[in-house]
Amino acid sequence: MKTNILVQYQGGGYDSCFWERNYFYIDKQGTFYDIHSSGRAGIDNLKGALALIERDETHTYIYDLSNKQDIKAFSKETHPVHISGVLQWFNDNEDIEFFAVCSACGYGIDSCDDMMIEDKDLFCIECYSIGECQCCESYVGADSMIAVDQSEHYGFDYVCTDCKEYHDEEREAVNIKDIRWQAFCTGTPDMFSGELREQRLQTNGGL
Ligand SMILES: [Zn+2]
Ligand SMILES: [Zn+2]
Repeated sequence: MKTNILVQYQGGGYDSCFWERNYFYIDKQGTFYDIHSSGRAGIDNLKGALALIERDETHTYIYDLSNKQDIKAFSKETHPVHISGVLQWFNDNEDIEFFAVCSACGYGIDSCDDMMIEDKDLFCIECYSIGECQCCESYVGADSMIAVDQSEHYGFDYVCTDCKEYHDEEREAVNIKDIRWQAFCTGTPDMFSGELREQRLQTNGGL
């Protein structure tokens, strides 16, 4: 009998025929633990677990937790919300090595407190913070973050490309307004020729 294995299988199966991923763990001593089971296909005992492994169905995945590659494979093949659920279970129940893998840096994450889920990805706190725009409070990924002059960006040293664009346009609009006001009061620059005229035509605006 295989031991120290995490098994992912198709459980669920209610009247509406809704199938969902279920999980159990068999420790080194061969003790069965039901991590999550649901519906009539859910398994809550060792006998059922062994029968399932025996049947060797396509939707059953067995991970040998003595093997780091298997633990990594689990992170690759599983939805982050489920990874988090399984990791939480190991955090709460067992003293065996288990970890989730950060989608960005590939390092292991030992605790649910140290991970962030973003859509279909799972990140360690560090990678998440590098890719999170503090200004609009959304995760955009490290590639979309730009170092900026904080005096022009509400005190932020890094903002996402969208925020930068927005702030730049905002500043530009204020500048034009200032120049127009100056032109209106002093006659310089001429409101009706050159750049200001171009802008008036573009924006259909006056003062
Ligand atoms: Zn990371
Ligand atoms: Zn932003």
